[in-house]
Amino acid sequence: MGERKLKMRKILLFLLTLAVLASCQTTTKKNKEKIVFASILPLQYFTDQITGNLYISEVMVPPGVGPETYNPTPRQMGEMAKAGAFFANGFLGFEETYLEKFQSNNPNLVFINTSAGVELIHAAGHDHGDHDHEKGVDPHTWSSPEGARIIARNIYDGMVKIDPANQAKFQTNLDHLLTRIDSVDREVKKILTNIPSRKFMVFHPALGYFAREYGLEQLSIEFEGKIPTPRHIQNIVLEARAQNIKYIMIQKEFDAENADIIANETGSKVIQIDPLAYDWPGQMISLALKMAAAK
Ligand SMILES: [Zn+2]
Repeated sequence: MGERKLKMRKILLFLLTLAVLASCQTTTKKNKEKIVFASILPLQYFTDQITGNLYISEVMVPPGVGPETYNPTPRQMGEMAKAGAFFANGFLGFEETYLEKFQSNNPNLVFINTSAGVELIHAAGHDHGDHDHEKGVDPHTWSSPEGARIIARNIYDGMVKIDPANQAKFQTNLDHLLTRIDSVDREVKKILTNIPSRKFMVFHPALGYFAREYGLEQLSIEFEGKIPTPRHIQNIVLEARAQNIKYIMIQKEFDAENADIIANETGSKVIQIDPLAYDWPGQMISLALKMAAAK
């Protein structure tokens, strides 16, 4: 085969690419509306990793807002009409309120419960107040590598369902994401090997799955999802002293006042954490580092 023939083929290929691009131009409407929704930022992170930014992802609950009582905006409701899939946690307060409505408004939207398959933690004895709608299920499934792996696979399944043509691409991206989750897991394990205490105190019990996976014990200030009563605070203070707890973790969505009271009473430190951060790997590692550093 001569060089000329090869050149001709290259030119043909080039023209063909142009033709494809041109035809895409006329159908951009469809491409433009490659939108998927995620309930919270960590789920948006997993979604972006799997789509490889082939899709525009929108998050329901913006940074700094609690997912228990969030109300979607009219703009979000409008965007949803153009979306292909909605990746839900399955147990968040606002989902309990709105998910059915979203579904009936958007019959063609594929809804994925990303927690499906996670061994759920049920708040035994006392219900978890702000998320007690779904039989007292602890919704924070994303706060552990084990949960993250399942969530990632569920999002992958959802993407393949709405866009089977890109299955191979999603598969490659899923594999990368799972490798990343594994390395975060190893790193967190390493950091937590020699921590001063395996018990920690947190304002809102967002780390139940994290605690289960790493053999830690979570004590929460929030009681039955409500602002703690003085009596409950007193009990917590006694417990913190008895357990020799040196720090209290608090999320930015919550009022630090009660955490400060307990910190003063027990001589412990208040540490800010952000389990709802977009940067899931960074947040997991920072969480472990904060636990390890707290003395
Ligand atoms: Zn929560």
